[in-house]
Amino acid sequence: MDTMTLTWSILYVLMSVTIMFFMFRLIWMDNSEYRPFLLLALFCAGLIQVAKIAGISSPTWEGYFQASKLEYLGKCYVSAFSISFVTRFYKIKTPRWLMVLLYFVSMGFFFIILFDDYHHLYYSYLSHEKMARSVDYAVGHGPLYFVYMGFLFCVLASFLIVCRYHYKKEGKYHKDLSFQILLMVGGTLPFVGVALCIVGALNGTDFTPIFTGLSVIIMSYGVMKYGLFDPVALSKEAVITSTNTGVIVFDRYKRYMYANDIAKSILNTVDFDQYNVEGYELESLFATPGRIFERGEKSYEVNTAEINNKENKIEGFLAYFTDVTDLFAQNKELNKLKAKAESTAAQKSTFLANMSHEIRTPMNAILGMSELALKQNPDDKTKGNLEQIRNASESLITIVNDILDVSKMESGKFKITESKYSLRKMVEGVEQIERRVLDEKGLKYSVDIDESIPDELYGDDIRIKQVLINLVNNAAKYTEEGSVAVRVRSHKGRTPDEISLEFSVKDTGIGIKAEDKDRIFKNYEQTDAGLSLRTEGTGLGLSICKELVSLMHGSIGVESIYGTGSRFYFEIPQKIAKEGYVERKETYQEATASWMAKNVKALVVDDTEVNLKVTEGFLNIYGIEADLADNGQAAVSKAITSSYDLIFIDKLMPQMDGLETIREMKANGVEALFIALSGDVTEEAQAEFKENGFEDFLAKPLMMSNLEQCLLRHLSEDKIIRS
Ligand code: ADP
Repeated sequence: MDTMTLTWSILYVLMSVTIMFFMFRLIWMDNSEYRPFLLLALFCAGLIQVAKIAGISSPTWEGYFQASKLEYLGKCYVSAFSISFVTRFYKIKTPRWLMVLLYFVSMGFFFIILFDDYHHLYYSYLSHEKMARSVDYAVGHGPLYFVYMGFLFCVLASFLIVCRYHYKKEGKYHKDLSFQILLMVGGTLPFVGVALCIVGALNGTDFTPIFTGLSVIIMSYGVMKYGLFDPVALSKEAVITSTNTGVIVFDRYKRYMYANDIAKSILNTVDFDQYNVEGYELESLFATPGRIFERGEKSYEVNTAEINNKENKIEGFLAYFTDVTDLFAQNKELNKLKAKAESTAAQKSTFLANMSHEIRTPMNAILGMSELALKQNPDDKTKGNLEQIRNASESLITIVNDILDVSKMESGKFKITESKYSLRKMVEGVEQIERRVLDEKGLKYSVDIDESIPDELYGDDIRIKQVLINLVNNAAKYTEEGSVAVRVRSHKGRTPDEISLEFSVKDTGIGIKAEDKDRIFKNYEQTDAGLSLRTEGTGLGLSICKELVSLMHGSIGVESIYGTGSRFYFEIPQKIAKEGYVERKETYQEATASWMAKNVKALVVDDTEVNLKVTEGFLNIYGIEADLADNGQAAVSKAITSSYDLIFIDKLMPQMDGLETIREMKANGVEALFIALSGDVTEEAQAEFKENGFEDFLAKPLMMSNLEQCLLRHLSEDKIIRS
């Protein structure tokens, strides 16, 4: 074997080994529908190399030409398999008949070459001598050779068209672009070889086997390098193409590169086929991430993300459109419902506040007048009647207060305000309020506060008292005979300056069935036994207690033996008061049964005559003389001409209301202690009074006990005579 033949043989062997290497690599990769075609193309290219080795190393010219027929088996099919691979890879639907035709024509050419000895239409002559400085024998080309070349150029052209078509359709994102280039180079190479051969370059040596081998190697390299068969990469791409989310890819300079079909249909005014898609619309995608983008009846949320490489450097950007039409519609609907619910709740609160105000004003007269009449030593029968009026009115007021509390609870307006207070005084206050009810039933009442509990605590004593009053009141309501016992114990708190305070109210009443124990803490729930016993009550008391206790981070419960009695208890964390803890302004003054005011003059302003009389009557009991005014204007004149220690002003009055009246008085230099009277007991109203210069506030209906507390709070010791 001469050196040239040896050199070429080595070259073909190297080519065959490389092809085999790529074949094995492909076989090891995951299966996909286009892999067999690439494998077959590689096989054909390998066959060409092997045939070539056999041909050039054959000692006879017949051997060379017989081997070249085998070579043509590979040559004829390699282009057919390559084009099948590309079309399937790019998912381009090609008519079946066209592919069948391609394979038949390829086969046809193979047979034409195989039987050339009989027709010489492919090779016009075959030289018996090798060409100078070549391993190949010279040949003359017959007409079918040129037909075959034409056919091959058509295959090449369609191969390039397929690549170009895909490139235009799918965009130019970099990975695909590099692969495209490799494919095009690979696809074109064999023809370069043929062309070189035809023009007789390279001493007429046939370069097509080498170029065909290189062609399939380059294609296979592209497949491996860019992981086009990598199932993970493919799935990621599949997600982008099949997702409902519109995806647009930009390079690191925010230049458009790729858009999936959804993105194109969303941004249908943008011409994505333009090589350079620019314009405000795409750039504006980066403006406000998370913004809503409306197109027709659809709403999309637009977001952007950076695409970073392994070194965490920005490689590009991703803009994606998520269809939020349904979510948006639901949100709109929910917002509408929410607004409606809020406005209904607000209307309800306003209605309740107004109603309670309206009820409180006449109740002031009923309660006040019955109280006053009781103070005037009536005969026993009248006294009994008056007491009934008073008790019924008090129950009614409790109901109104409970309904207001529930409405506050529902709108989340219930607040806990902490201050320093005296535990024992607070518990005594409960007895003062409940004393009469207990006495009427002849129930024994006892209080047992553990001595070790410090008296000065820090918490919301008003709310604790409200719960305690409720429990004691219930105990009295549902107990016909026996006793009601209040016990206060303390347990270790969560921190050294905190204790866990446990209140319990035990009665010897009707008791509660086990199945009713949870129910009674819910709104409007009453037990059958409770119902049959009495008709008063709304079933709100305990649910308010539960809410209050939980607002104070505590818990409430009940133990009961049906028919024997109940023990309600609640436990709340309370801080031990320290130096510097602020006391509530409206603290409870010890009400002494007998005290009188000395030289105290008051002015009462109210547009309702009967209310004027009630307040006046109450004040008189404590020896306070009162001037009356039934409108703001008259009150201002009186306050300017005479001097008063106390001025009580009703809030709601025609023409000049309570707030205007106090402003006018203050503007005229009137100095006194201003106390507001109002049926509006909301915290907002109380804050308004404070802002306008009122020192204190008394809720209507005016209770003597409240008035007394208020007077004791504000009158200086020298104005009080205790007996
Ligand atoms: P109301 O007392 O206005 O009906 P509550 O919420 O205060 O509403 O109480 C709910 C129900 O629990 C009562 O109707 C009554 O049946 C029952 N209940 C409450 N306290 C006691 C008690 N001390 N003894 C027996 N039953 C009670």
